[in-house]
Amino acid sequence: MAARPPLIAGNWKMHKTASEGVAVVRELLALAADPSPVEAVLAPPFTALAAVSQAIAGSPYALAAQNMHWEDHGAFTGEISAPMLTDLGCRYVIIGHSERRRLFGEDDRMINNKVRAALRHDLRPILCVGETLAERDCGSMNAVITRQLTNGLAGIEPTALGHLTIAYEPVWAIGTGQAATPAQATDAHRTLRQLLMDTWADAGRAVRILYGGSVTAENAAGFLGAAEVSGALVGGACLDPKSFAKILRFAKDSLASHQGA
Ligand code: PEP
Repeated sequence: MAARPPLIAGNWKMHKTASEGVAVVRELLALAADPSPVEAVLAPPFTALAAVSQAIAGSPYALAAQNMHWEDHGAFTGEISAPMLTDLGCRYVIIGHSERRRLFGEDDRMINNKVRAALRHDLRPILCVGETLAERDCGSMNAVITRQLTNGLAGIEPTALGHLTIAYEPVWAIGTGQAATPAQATDAHRTLRQLLMDTWADAGRAVRILYGGSVTAENAAGFLGAAEVSGALVGGACLDPKSFAKILRFAKDSLASHQGA
């Protein structure tokens, strides 16, 4: 099976108003109008989705939400559903980010409901998994990410795997400036890939596995060249269009060098 092009997603978290978001997109489009064949994905806050959707219309950039509820509609004050996101032009949705798990009590069951609902509505989930520092230090990294992946993907049909992306995001690396090493990322990605293939055989190869955690323009090339890393989920650095454009450039160059190899 041919390798899929890398995916680089920018998670804006709770940053940027709608008008600030449009300014970011304009600058990004001026710096990196065509990142293809790399898939470039922007995940602004809910309130900026409509404005960013308009600003990227006709460009190769895709839109993502940072979260969603698993029901289509109903009495769930403050929640947003998959049909609401697709109506705004979202193609992807981040699910199970460690900030959602840790600060908002999301558990594997809720996350699995969200993944299944997203796939039902033709939204591509980016499912985040990753261990805390305490879990890594006591040697349970593999057990934690295995549990998160197994539970998060329970009941998923093999035909949906091509629509699925996993992001390995060690919690200790998120927003800390202390990225994992490319070797640590490869190690975790191999565990995840093995699990995907043990569960779904060859279909498990179709799933992209991103690395996330303090990726910057300075260290991105190391990750994007690492074995089993099919892209990056970028937080802080994506808020600066110059940094994000550089990361997209590294991804495009690393793809070209692999294809030329
Ligand atoms: C993230 O929010 O998913 C993330 C990886 O953040 P940062 O790049 O800032 O560590």
